[in-house]
Parts: sequence; C-alpha cells; structure tokens
Amino acid sequence: MTYELELDLKRQRVGKHGFKSHNHGHNHVHNHGYDHRAEKLERIQGVRKHDRLHKNGDIGDIVEYDIEDEEHPINLICLLCKDFYYNNWVTGTGGGLSIRDGKKKLIYLAPSGVQKEKIEPNEIFILRDYQNGEEKENEIKRGYGYDGLIDNYKDSGKYLYTPNEIEGVRELKNTYKPSQCTPLFLSTFKLRNSGACIHTHSQNAVLISLLIKKQNYFRISHIEQIKAIPFLKEKRNLRFDENLVIPIIDNKNFEEDLTDSLQEAIERFPNTTAVLVKRHGIYVWGEDIWKAKIYNEAIDYLLEIGIKMIQNRIPLSSEDGEDVYDKGGY
Ligand SMILES: [Zn+2]
Repeated sequence: MTYELELDLKRQRVGKHGFKSHNHGHNHVHNHGYDHRAEKLERIQGVRKHDRLHKNGDIGDIVEYDIEDEEHPINLICLLCKDFYYNNWVTGTGGGLSIRDGKKKLIYLAPSGVQKEKIEPNEIFILRDYQNGEEKENEIKRGYGYDGLIDNYKDSGKYLYTPNEIEGVRELKNTYKPSQCTPLFLSTFKLRNSGACIHTHSQNAVLISLLIKKQNYFRISHIEQIKAIPFLKEKRNLRFDENLVIPIIDNKNFEEDLTDSLQEAIERFPNTTAVLVKRHGIYVWGEDIWKAKIYNEAIDYLLEIGIKMIQNRIPLSSEDGEDVYDKGGY
C-alpha cells in the first residue's frame, strides 16, 4: 500500500467518525499483563515512517516523526497515556501528559477530551519551546514565549501542529482542543525547567487530599520509597529519614484556573517536584519524561501508604509526634 493510500484511508476514517467516535468505547477489561509494545505498534501502524507532520503558522521547524523511534516524544505520549490509563490514573479522558524536547525546542501535548488509551500519533499538539530569556523581542510582542502561551494557550495559531490539521477534522462539530492542563504544564517548564509533566486523577491523590484537613501539604518520612524522590536544593535524592513534602492547592471549576495557585505552590515549596490538587489529582514533573514517570509512580505509592498509615493512626512523619491523632489529625 502506498503512503498516499494509507493516509487517505486514515483521513477517511477520521473524516467519517471524527475523534468523538472514540467515545463509543467498549468496556475495557483492565489487563495488567498487556504487551505495551505490541499494542503500540498495532495502534500506530498506518502512520508512515518518518512522517512529516503538517506545519501551522510561520514559526518553528517541520517535525520529523519516526514510528520506530521508541524515545520519540509522540510515541512516548501514546504509550505512557495507555500505561497511565491501565493504572486508573487517566480514566474518563481526565489527566494528561506533556513532554519537552529541549534540543529540538519543541513541546508535545496530549489532546484534551480524548480517551487516553486511544491517542494516535497525529492527535498530539506541538508547540515551539521558548527557552526562558531566549525569546526574540518580536516573538514576545506577538504573544509568544512562555508567558504568552500560558496566558493564551487556546490560540491555535501558536501551535506548530494541531490534530485539526487532519483533513476533514475542521468540518466536524467537535474539533480537537488543546488540554486545559497546558498552562500548568508550561508553568513547570518555565519555573522548574522540567522536561516533562504528568497530570493524573489518581484516587490516592484525591483521597489523601481529603484526609489532610489542617495542613496545606502532605509530609511523610521514614519510608524507603522516599529515596526515589529528588531533594532539589542539594541536587540529590531524599534520604530515608528526611521529609518528602508535597503542597496541596484547592481545586477550581476549570483546570486552567489552577495555574496561578500551582505557580505559587512551586515558588513556596522550592524543593517540590509535585503539587496535589484537592479533590482532583496531582501534577508531577521531572528533568525528563523517565524521571517524571518514576517520581509519579513513587509518589503514588507514598500517597497510598500515607492513606493506610492515617487509617491505622500511624504518624506520617517523625516531626508529627505520637499524639498527632489525639490533636485532631492532619
Ligand atoms: Zn485534571
């Protein structure tokens, strides 16, 4: 089959059903033993090797995409969103993921409102990565740079590529929209120079935010898994007997309205690599996607054990005192 024919078939399918067709999803049985790689290759077959994704606007380079490059951010987003889905972290279209390629100065974003286990390579949004302080003056004037993108992430003209470029999508009732998480992801890139940010609706994150009522942070010490989390101030990982502290911010009706409080929490807690959102979930970031993934997994483990410790009236941190529950808990 020629590439043109393959692409035509793909477009016909997209044009006929649109991405909303994903929402007719079947009941997915949770299968923790599934083969990521085989599923990935099966799912993204039909997109040609070295695909040149469309270019939108007058900035940036054309994105080279290689289906077989397992480290390509587009492939990683498809794979990890599926992984997170099977962990119950991004069910019901919630949650998201962004990867920043510092070398090529590109930012890749999972789309909004799409079932996360079914994202296809051409459904990713791509932004130019403006390094802080390196934006050209005329670019800042035109509203680009991190601040411009955070303030106006819905402006599709700022994207190098959006899935609405797929032929037939623009005529659909529901076109693709960039994730409302976008300004929050960009905030971690801007303020922490992170290479990736993960947002989940993990039940452990939600429940711990309900169990902690007095403090605006989750603090835990003396659990081995803490050693997977960085201690940013000293550029090393936390030790067993040190405290992991993760700020908790209040939820808002719209995800994008969390941007200011997330930024404040990042400034207020200079060592944190995550922010919990009450009754909502968690944002976790890292120097690159693999570190962000490890931090997310380790933190989720610590949140889960924290819940169980509270339920068993075991103090979370050595700083809390044995009488913490007699004093009304956290
Ligand atoms: Zn969310």
